[in-house]
Amino acid sequence: MITLKGAAVSAKIKEEVTELLRELAGAVPKLAIVRVGERPDDMSYERGALKKMENFGLQAESFSFSADISNEEFQAEFKKINENPDIDGILLLRPLPKQINERDIEHMIDPEKDLDGISPENIAQVFAGVNEGFAPCTAEAVIEVLKANDISLSGKRVSVVGRSIVVGRPLSMLLLKENATVTICHTRTKEIEKTCRDAEILIAAAGQAKMIDASYVGADAVVIDVGINVDQDGTTPVPGGVGAVTTAVLAKHLVTAARRQRGSGK
Ligand code: NAP
Repeated sequence: MITLKGAAVSAKIKEEVTELLRELAGAVPKLAIVRVGERPDDMSYERGALKKMENFGLQAESFSFSADISNEEFQAEFKKINENPDIDGILLLRPLPKQINERDIEHMIDPEKDLDGISPENIAQVFAGVNEGFAPCTAEAVIEVLKANDISLSGKRVSVVGRSIVVGRPLSMLLLKENATVTICHTRTKEIEKTCRDAEILIAAAGQAKMIDASYVGADAVVIDVGINVDQDGTTPVPGGVGAVTTAVLAKHLVTAARRQRGSGK
């Protein structure tokens, strides 16, 4: 079994970001992180993103709202952030509390500022296999990890455990674009251990701590764990894992968004 680590991949993306920044002639792109409530995994992701933006020489500001904010009030606040010309990109931490209509926000967010690929425009590009918008950062991070480790995807049997619109589905489409043969597993998948064991590359995005054990992993398989799980001891991101690369991809999307909005190219 080969397990990949993400820290070196993040460093490589930092070099790309630094290069892209140079062409912005001193302008420093700004990220808005929008959080409703205080879920531990959101707080952990937010801390990681703030640290990463600082480390990459980018600006970031957190906009946090009470968990019981009304739908109308949140939409009005979100509109202000979305229309603020000083903000180049937005990361919305999800899921949002039930009283907020998440689909309205997905339709409202400016696709040019939608760094995590939640708008219909951006997600459609991912499913169409074109590269012009922003894919969800975690899904793209997995591809970056594989490419940076020189793991070819063409023709490979890849199993993805998880079919959420945030990770499993877009990731499966990005893998397909790289010519992998993708099997998407979920809670109704029969003989899931066998399906996973048959894969040359196994990607766990199920949100279940310690779910993938040796019975899921074939000999010489490459395994990527996307999980950030919260147990009784708190949040336990996988050390050096995909999380570090996800925030690096977010930074790259931010600089790309700033360049597009400021007319400095693609
Ligand atoms: P989610 O919305 O809860 O979806 C979990 C998916 O896994 C579902 O499709 C579910 O199947 C499937 N699943 C759950 N238990 C399973 C089991 N025992 N066997 C087979 N399939 C199972 O989670 P998510 O938002 O996609 O997130 C997945 C993981 O990625 C979480 O650990 C999350 O914290 C992590 N994450 C990491 C990052 C990062 O940057 N590293 C970013 C976002 C999320 P059904 O559809 O059948 O229910």
